[in-house]
This record gives sequence, structure tokens and C-alpha cells, in this order.
Amino acid sequence: MSPAFTIWGTRGSMAVSGPGYLRYGGDTSCFHVEVEPGHHLVIDCGTGLRALEARLGPPPLRFTVLFTHYHLDHLQGLPVFSPLYERANEFEFIGARRGGVGAAEALFSLLRPPLFPVPYDEISARDRFTDLEQPLIVGGVRVAPIELRHPGGVTGFRLEGEAGSVMLATDHEAGDEATDDALVAFAAGVGVLVHDSQYTREQLAGAKAGWGHSSFAAAAAIAKRAGVGRLVLTSHDPERRDDELDAFVAKVRRRFPAAEAAYPGMSFPL
Ligand SMILES: [Zn+2]
Repeated sequence: MSPAFTIWGTRGSMAVSGPGYLRYGGDTSCFHVEVEPGHHLVIDCGTGLRALEARLGPPPLRFTVLFTHYHLDHLQGLPVFSPLYERANEFEFIGARRGGVGAAEALFSLLRPPLFPVPYDEISARDRFTDLEQPLIVGGVRVAPIELRHPGGVTGFRLEGEAGSVMLATDHEAGDEATDDALVAFAAGVGVLVHDSQYTREQLAGAKAGWGHSSFAAAAAIAKRAGVGRLVLTSHDPERRDDELDAFVAKVRRRFPAAEAAYPGMSFPL
């Protein structure tokens, strides 16, 4: 059976809950592929990591963890991720260095009192850290990085497997011509484009400009230019309720018909 790319965290900025968020989810960014039995590729460790944990088998497990960037909504599921405290498990954390901070420094800052009771050096799993500098092969999946546009920087990833391809471009603010052109070229012909669409054009024309997120219309434009198979809108605004997202997806489909909003458990063959 081919591996699958599965979305467990759909929300940008902060986790939300309540009756308005039942279909499109309230957890922050987390994406997952079991690249081979017991070997898990995880991209971002938002609160969606909790939903993934419930579906994992028993130890020993191997995790290759990639970070798009180190903002808190992409890390906050990790301190309470129980496989980290299992001696038989193995983790490799991989991320770009941003302003002198790599994955190691980010996790050492987060997992220590008073932010968290257990200091990082007391985790039980075996671990290592790698600076992201070039494309990787994880299991049978090829992972290629591209630098996108977000405060402090962000990495997008194109994943290629035998059964499909996915381009993940979350926390990217469209609008810079050179970056958008590079993304269009990088995502060309991909099966599934998972793209940030936290805001509306109206919000981006006002206070939300420069916050590092795209509009629904910009995501559709990138999808169209790159000739992707499907567009999946993600990094939903915490204020955006299910019925409101339905209305925006309907509008996006006028520009790019194969568009849908990410929901927890949404999965594509890879
Ligand atoms: Zn961010």
C-alpha cells in the first residue's frame, strides 16, 4: 500500500474549539506521512499532533520531524507528545536556521521551566538535529524545500512519492512577485497544493498585510498558474467558522474548481 499525506492540524495562529469548528477542525498545523511501517514523517508540531498520536502504533517508532518555521502554533503540540518520552523511539528534527536559531534552539527554549515542567534534556527518546539545507529522501518520499514569505521566514515543501505529489505552502504571504514566481515554478504540475488562505483580500488590504498569510484569491491564482491537480486551503483563521469557510470555498471554486478546505484526517496518496 502506498503511503498517504494526511492533514491533522488545519488552523493558523491558535487552536480553537466549539460548535463552529467541528468540520474543518480547531487544531494548529500538523501534517503526516507514514513513509514506511513504523517510520513517520511529521511536518510541523502544532496541536494537531494530538490527533496523530492517537493513531500511532506501539514503540519502537521512528520520527523524521520537519519544521516549516518555529512560531509557537507550529511547535506547541510537541511538549505533550508522549512518544517523545519513550526510550525505544527515535527522533530526527530538521529545520532551517532562522536568525541563528535552528530546531535544537527552538525546542530547548520551549521545553524548559517555566514554560514547560520537563527540560528538553530529560526526554527519553533518542534524538538528533539536522539543519535543513537541501532536498531529502525520507523513506521512499523525496522532500524538496523552498523558502517562502513569512515574518522571520518559512519553508515550503514539495513531497514526491510513487503514488502522488503534494506541495505544502502554509504560512506564506503571496504578493511578492519573485517569491510567487518561484513557488509557481516549484509547484508546477503537483497533484495537490496545500496553500495558506488565512485571510480575505479585504483583510490583506488592511491590518493583516505583512502578517505572513495569503488570501483565498491568491491561493487560487497560484494553483491556476502552477497547473496543480487540486487546491487544499489551509491555515484557517481562528475566527473563520465552518459555514463561513464553505462560503469562501464556493467563491474560490469559481476561479479554481478543484478547491476544498482542509479538514482533520484529509488524506492523499503519496
Ligand atoms: Zn508563523
